[in-house]
Amino acid sequence: MKKNVRLKVKPSYVKGLKTGYPLITEDAVQNISNVKEEGTIIELFDEKNVFLGKGYYGKQNKGRGWVLTQNSQELIDQEFFEKKLKKAINHRQELFNNYETTAFRVFNGEGDGIGGLTIDHYNGYYVLTWYSEGIYSFKDEVIASLKELVKVKGIYEKKRFAVKGKYIDDNDFVEGEQAPSPLIVRENGIHFAVYLNDGAMVGVFLDQRDVRKTIRDQYAKGKTVLNTFSYTGAFSVAAALGGAAKTTSVDLANRSRSKTQEQFSVNGLNYEDHDIIVEDVFNYFKYAVRKELSFDLVILDPPSFARSKKHTFSAGKDYPDLLAQAIQITERNGVIVASSNCSTFGMKKFKEMIASAFKQTGSTYNILEEFKLPQDFKTHKEFKEGNYLKVVFIEKLS
Ligand code: SAH
Repeated sequence: MKKNVRLKVKPSYVKGLKTGYPLITEDAVQNISNVKEEGTIIELFDEKNVFLGKGYYGKQNKGRGWVLTQNSQELIDQEFFEKKLKKAINHRQELFNNYETTAFRVFNGEGDGIGGLTIDHYNGYYVLTWYSEGIYSFKDEVIASLKELVKVKGIYEKKRFAVKGKYIDDNDFVEGEQAPSPLIVRENGIHFAVYLNDGAMVGVFLDQRDVRKTIRDQYAKGKTVLNTFSYTGAFSVAAALGGAAKTTSVDLANRSRSKTQEQFSVNGLNYEDHDIIVEDVFNYFKYAVRKELSFDLVILDPPSFARSKKHTFSAGKDYPDLLAQAIQITERNGVIVASSNCSTFGMKKFKEMIASAFKQTGSTYNILEEFKLPQDFKTHKEFKEGNYLKVVFIEKLS
């Protein structure tokens, strides 16, 4: 049985919680440091003892838990989890029935009503990601609910929280049948090799599905493509399948070469027709400028924060400079796909960064289209940070 604790919300945070802001921050609640046990059920009240919401305690970055319900009578039990999961699964029915796409997100944290938990589906296997020890304490309820609602071949989990200051990196496999390694999934007909038992990242970022399809179907044919921060080369493969003349993938990580070769191979493409370069993107830009290389399509999808030997990159600060370098090696009337998953700024600021980069290089541009998170990455309207993805297709005019 879970412990219940009543806590008072500081006056300036009452309004936010009333309108449905789901994150419980350390500053918002009096005496939150008295709560010691992860997974404790917290009931929140204002100064006049009016009920505001009920949730769980769990340390997740600056958060100290998530509100799960604004109904004081609702219990956080097996039935609660089953209800939330059921709704989430119904919301993805189209994807469950889509033969061409077998990898997608089934449950997206606060967007589906339970902050701190995501569930991804890969061809009948499920990967649960727990963002705090608090939500992890509900593991039995979540797994029982999932098995009640869908046919599960096997379950894996990723623990994205530290216990006593240490991240636990034990076996990801939980139960059922083990997935083949690699497991081949489909996305709009593109194949991806994924590894469910190999650390936090499985080999493909599911939130870029619509962007990959758009590149393949509308932007790649006959083009030379530069894919920077390429990871396993998912964008390169999409472009190659769309008839790109050639793709060049650049990533710092050694593993990116074999991983990218593999993604080409599982799509019946010859990776030797493409360049896969293991290098710091910032060095590569210098090299490309020196050699006067230029590309018809340049894809920029850096991490929010990265440190290499010579550079520290922070998207919030350095994106305009990165983009300015990309502009220099993009053909006139070429297209730059600028993407950022940084949660500290939104689309408006991202577009200001784009404007400033083009100004800096003395070039002009035209925005062709924009993408945010796909439908399966459901967001919570009061929780803007959760709506992190911004992708802009930009034509360089001069
Ligand atoms: N665009 C990819 C995902 C990028 S993940 C996709 O759609 O699949 C971020 C990648 O950036 C990682 O693979 C990491 O190795 C790489 N990276 C980080 N800093 C880098 C740098 N300075 N130069 C090149 N690659 C870098």
